[in-house]
Parts: sequence; C-alpha cells; structure tokens
Amino acid sequence: MTLSASTNAALAARDLKHLWHPCTQMHDHDLAGQGSVPMIPIVRGEGAWLIDADGHRYLDGISSWWTNLFGHANPRIAAALAAQATTLEHVIFAGFTHEPAIELAEELVRITPPGLDRVFYADNGSAAIEVALKMSFHYWLNQGHGEKTRFIALTGSYHGETLGALSVSDVALYRKTYAPLLLTPFLAPSPDAYEGALGESSAQTATRRLGEMRALLERHAHETCAVIVEPLVQCAGGMRMYHPSYLAGLRALCDEFAVHFIADEIAVGFGRTGSLFACEQAGVSPDFMCLSKGLTGGFLPLSAVLTSGQVYEAFYAEYSAGKAFLHSHSYTGNPLACRVALETLKIFRDEPVLERNLQLAAHLARRLHPLRAHPHVADVRQTGMIAAIELVADKRCRRPFPVAERRGLRVYLHGLQQGALLRPLGDVVYFMPPYVVSEAEIDLLVDTAIAGIERAVVD
Ligand SMILES: *Cc1c(COP(=O)(O)O)cnc(C)c1O
Repeated sequence: MTLSASTNAALAARDLKHLWHPCTQMHDHDLAGQGSVPMIPIVRGEGAWLIDADGHRYLDGISSWWTNLFGHANPRIAAALAAQATTLEHVIFAGFTHEPAIELAEELVRITPPGLDRVFYADNGSAAIEVALKMSFHYWLNQGHGEKTRFIALTGSYHGETLGALSVSDVALYRKTYAPLLLTPFLAPSPDAYEGALGESSAQTATRRLGEMRALLERHAHETCAVIVEPLVQCAGGMRMYHPSYLAGLRALCDEFAVHFIADEIAVGFGRTGSLFACEQAGVSPDFMCLSKGLTGGFLPLSAVLTSGQVYEAFYAEYSAGKAFLHSHSYTGNPLACRVALETLKIFRDEPVLERNLQLAAHLARRLHPLRAHPHVADVRQTGMIAAIELVADKRCRRPFPVAERRGLRVYLHGLQQGALLRPLGDVVYFMPPYVVSEAEIDLLVDTAIAGIERAVVD
C-alpha cells in the first residue's frame, strides 16, 4: 500500500491489525469484503456529535451505547474529573473510603425510590447484575433458605454478557452459543406490548402476563431467589416496551411469594423513560436496583447496586458467623468515576433536565408519527427519550425480514454517510440521543432514519 489517502484509513488499518472489537464479526470490516462496514476512528466529541480523523461529523443518536447524557467531553464533567485526577485517582476500597464514594452513596439513596438505603459499587453493568444475583442468593442462604438457588427472568431480557448476567438474559444472539456454560433461569413471558394479543391494550397484556408470572411463582417460588426485570423497556431485546402496571403487579407478587425483585435500570435509569428512574412510574421500590451507563454521564465505567436495610441486616453479624458478602473488584468505588457521577447528578439538580426531555420527547413523537403509515413499519413506540421503529417484511402479519438480509445494517450504513450514528438492533431502528440534543438535531436523526429505511426495505 502507498501513503494512506486519509487519516481515517490509516488509523483503521492499524486498528484492524491488532484490535478485536465487541459485538462485532470482525470480517465485516474486511475492506475487500462485500458490503464492508467502515471502522471509524473518532478523535473528538462535542455535545451530541462525534468527529472522526478526517473531520466528518456524526450525530450520536444512540448516546454511544446508551451511556451519554449531557454531551461528549461535557466541560463540567471533564473539569470535575481533572480536579479529582490530581487529588486522588484510586484507593483500595476495603478498609479505606473517600468522600466521592460517600457523597455519591448519599445522593443515590436520596434520589432512588424509598427503601433503597445501601449502596454496593462495581465497575460495569454486568458486574452489578452479578452482585445483585449473588447478594439475593446469599441473603436467602443467610436466612436459612439455601434451597433458593434459581432466578426468574423475562423472555427477551438482556442483563449483560458475563456468565451470570448472560444466564438471566434471553436474547438468542448473545446467549445461544454459550448456553452450555450458563445457569438456567425460569423464563416468564415478557409483558412486551408488541407481542400482545390482537386488540389487547398494553395494560391488558401486562395483566395477562402477571397471571403467567403468578403461575410460575406458585410452582417455583420455594426454589427462587429473585425475579429480574428491565423496568418499562427491554432495550437490547429490541426496545420492547410495556405498561408500568406490570411493575406494580410484580412487586405485589414478589412480596406474596417471598422472592426478591431486581430492577435492572442500567439502561433506563437517569431520565431515559421520562422519570428519573423507570420504577417511579409504577410507584414501586425494588429489593435491588442496578445502575450504570448514564450514572457517569457516559464518561467512565461505574455501577452501583442499591438494596434495602433489611437485606443488609441479613449479612451483618460477628465475623465468625461467616455471613459477609463476598464480591470485590480491584477498582471498586473508583474516586474518578464517583466524582464524575456526582457531577452528572449535580447537572440534574441544576438544570430542568426532565422537563426539557419532555419537550424533546414530544418533538420526537411528532416527527415519528407519519412512519406509522409506512408499509414496512409494524410499530412505532416510545417511552420518554427512547423511541423505536419495528421494520418488517409484511406489515399485516408482522412477518420480519429474514435475519440474513441485515436490513438494519443498511440503515446504519446510510446513517454514517449522512452524518448520523443510528445503530439498529436487528431491524429495530431506534433513537436514544443524549439529552443535550436539539430539536433540529432530532429532525436530522429522524430524516436520516426515514431515508435509510426507504433504502433498507427495497430488494
Ligand atoms: C448494558 C446493559 C447491561 C450490561 O452493562 P455493561 O456495562 O455493558 O456490562 C445490563 N443490563 C442492561 C439493561 C443493559 O442495557
């Protein structure tokens, strides 16, 4: 090869020589391959925009995997991070503590639903799920119920990709290959409104699904530690949405059958669904709440598991009783990440974030409305700042396109050409922009998506 035509190409070539990317068939990036997918080196971020090495700009319509809230390289958060970095970068979190971790725990307890009074840190979403599963199991063990070893998850759920988190996930793409290595949860049918019966309202679907959950609990509650759900939106499973009444009903069932309720708000927390936490829309407090992604505004990996004083008490005993919870990561409670999370929460306090999101969400809804009539769109759904379009081959019977046709990928490639980062989940085109997006930027995202869909549905 002679001199690289562009900085993008040069960086991409170096990348592909040594790196192995997540959620990627690396062959897709083979430049000689048909329908090759570009590897895009990003050098800078600014508000809702990402800028590549050749100076192209991409509007980040998916908040860089649902992490970013207040824009890339947000100056407030960056300044807080810089100040913390020159003060205390890290310290062992057993036997030692620090103010950023303390203050963040105080804040999280204050802003989450009532009853969640204890905070356990981990360093990514999957790790938080591992913590919640282990803590729930260990709680029952400490209570003399070692027979409780199973979990209940919903069909279509996604809780991460480490072995425990993957065990309670039901997205075939991620789970199928590794199934022989995993725990086997009981699966309850998701209240997903898209999968509801013909003519049934989303509230009716939720009620029917609660009946099925009750039947499962009647048979298996005695051996079950917890039910784990993604409140309101099953994100990785295709942005499937359901009625809040399901969460209220599930809370009552968990109480009735003495199993824990684990709310995985890793994706939906911090304002995504319109309320600060999705559980608020059903007025429920889970026994465990897992937070990550938006927790640091998209700056650093950090997660937190919140639980009740009652759960905490079951572990609190003389050392010799051997009841202590055992789970540690080297970077538990990292001060840089905690400081960045605190600054993110301060932005929620200082600015009318949720009110503004309400207007942005209404604008997005208006712009998406016409798509309902599209011959290849089976559903347009939205919960707050998450909106999704379900592309199908046949609208009447909701027959999907064959997976191998990779229609969604065409929308992705079209988006890149037009300066928008849209990364469909299969054939579900969705929008989950940072909260700093403007109405004009939403217009750009929607227009690009519509044009991309037109290209994607032709043969
Ligand atoms: C992303 C996600 C996870 C996993 O978080 P990671 O930080 O990617 O490990 C778990 N649950 C939900 C609902 C998620 O969206």
